[in-house]
Amino acid sequence: MKAAVYKGTEQIDIEEIAKPEIQPGTVLLKIKACAICGGDLRTFRHGHAAIKPPIVLGHEIAGEIIEVADDVTTFKVGERVIVAPAIGCTACSYCLSGWQNMCYSRKTIAHHYNGGFAEYMLVPAGAVRAGNINRIPDDVTYLEASLAEPLACVLNGQEVMNIGLGDTVAVIGAGPIGCMHAEVARARGAGKVFLINRSGKRLAAAKKFGFDEYIDLSKTDGLKTVMDLTGGLGANVVIVTAGSAEAQQMGIAMASKMGKVCLFAGLPKDKPTIQLDANHLHYRQIAVYGTFSSAPRHNALALEMIRSGKVSAKNLLTHLVSLEEIRKGMDFIDDRSGLRVAVSPCIDELQEEIAKFSALKVQK
Ligand SMILES: [Zn+2]
Ligand SMILES: [Zn+2]
Repeated sequence: MKAAVYKGTEQIDIEEIAKPEIQPGTVLLKIKACAICGGDLRTFRHGHAAIKPPIVLGHEIAGEIIEVADDVTTFKVGERVIVAPAIGCTACSYCLSGWQNMCYSRKTIAHHYNGGFAEYMLVPAGAVRAGNINRIPDDVTYLEASLAEPLACVLNGQEVMNIGLGDTVAVIGAGPIGCMHAEVARARGAGKVFLINRSGKRLAAAKKFGFDEYIDLSKTDGLKTVMDLTGGLGANVVIVTAGSAEAQQMGIAMASKMGKVCLFAGLPKDKPTIQLDANHLHYRQIAVYGTFSSAPRHNALALEMIRSGKVSAKNLLTHLVSLEEIRKGMDFIDDRSGLRVAVSPCIDELQEEIAKFSALKVQK
């Protein structure tokens, strides 16, 4: 089969490799679409301590089941599915309470097993057993479903933040993840949603979502603007999707009394610290949370949010590239002209789906 094999920093080669063979407990997928995560791009550009090449990256997977092991009774050939990449052990306290993303012995697709930038992918037995496969509703396309994994991570964060009716929510970072957070916040009943970014390009691309305010940090002071917009109170919930110490510090500073701040993105490994005014947290009773990855139930909910239109996958997915053009897909993300980019090893089979998108840019 054809696969995009990651061989090290700046090295991805399209190669013929052995098609995976069905093993006890597993399910074989024909990949229809696999979106490119910011994490895939970072691994490609800078490497990743836990990912040992050669390996097939890609964990935002949507595909069709083409083979099922004899001992698997829960799935059938022909079913359309997504796969949550974080595989829990099913036995630790986190797995048992539905937080498989926090599992002590978590394994991850595209870290420990080959991922979805290929024609076929074997869903590991642990993932089948742990409930990581979710069926795609009939009225959701594979292309839309490829956004369920990042959306699931957003829903994990939002579950922890518990946004309430009327809350003012400030989202820092206007990439696809920031836009998803802002959409979910609105769906949860936020009063006002502000989208904040350090450059205007991505804010312009996000205008179509119709959020309440777009704050361009290249033109204006973000903290002052949010304080002005809230009558000096600050935002009830701040979600920082940018992996930047500056953005995290600004996010904490703009939280209201009893506000909540979500640090949704990690910082560079060699510079993981930020400056924190502890008195600001103490006297204003502010809570700061970290959130990371998602559990299978978040993936199921993500599909439902896409199906109901509460999150617009059609607005979020802006580019589709063939497997051969995966590097170009990475460049589209880098130059920030679009939002999410998906890769498909079988673009020609997706023509009907592509026709449902009004502005998808396709690169074969
Ligand atoms: Zn991802
Ligand atoms: Zn576990």
